[in-house]
Amino acid sequence: MKIVFLGTGSSAGTPVIACYCPVCSSADPRNCRLRASILVQDEGVDLLVDTGPDLRQQMLHAGVQALSAVLYTHFHADHINGVDDLRAFNFAQMVVIPCYADGRTATELESRFRYCFQPPDITWAKPSLSMHRMASPQTFGGVEVTPIPVMHGHLPILGYRFNDAAYLTDLKTIPDSSLTLLQGLKILILDCLRYEEHSTHLNVEEALYWARRIGAERTILTHMTHDIDYATLAAELPESIIPAYDGMVVDL
Ligand SMILES: [Zn+2]
Ligand SMILES: [Zn+2]
Ligand SMILES: [Zn+2]
Repeated sequence: MKIVFLGTGSSAGTPVIACYCPVCSSADPRNCRLRASILVQDEGVDLLVDTGPDLRQQMLHAGVQALSAVLYTHFHADHINGVDDLRAFNFAQMVVIPCYADGRTATELESRFRYCFQPPDITWAKPSLSMHRMASPQTFGGVEVTPIPVMHGHLPILGYRFNDAAYLTDLKTIPDSSLTLLQGLKILILDCLRYEEHSTHLNVEEALYWARRIGAERTILTHMTHDIDYATLAAELPESIIPAYDGMVVDL
């Protein structure tokens, strides 16, 4: 199984439009962050997590040929607003693309993007998606996907476990019932917005706390703002914790 980091940025991306701070002006490509998303690949299975506004660019960069399914974490704009570009996969695969989400996110997607969830027409003039409520683990080929409920401030959203790896973006706390689903991880991918505290996201200090508590072999930080310079943060972290960068690939 392979995890491709398609985007490791927060809602604004890095660089931020009209910002000329040292990180936004940095020559280090690891400080260029598209909106947060990953692709999980395993022998003919291609699972996309979220469809942010940078989806087209991310699919082209990663050379994605087909999608088995799309898994949504939640309905915030930086995680859903690229949904129209899924139409390319309708054309390429000539099938309806299945999407999975919790009940609230599914309902939001169906109402905001109603035209995507109508019966398909053979011209694929609009994206053609099917929505499935995900409450229990699902298997896609050799990948077992377990939904992991986490709290994004007051909003319950989903992280996902893929065999021995988990992707938890946009969160402030993890309920005890979810911690039991995160035992024995090789890779934990974790929200890490910035240094300063935030009401709905983990900051660096909180990310380190949860990384220690969950105790994965390796923790990889994502969903970072322009507050975070890659090299500076990387130098401050313990050996088992690293920041992600766009295009990073992890083999499991
Ligand atoms: Zn987000
Ligand atoms: Zn900036
Ligand atoms: Zn969010």
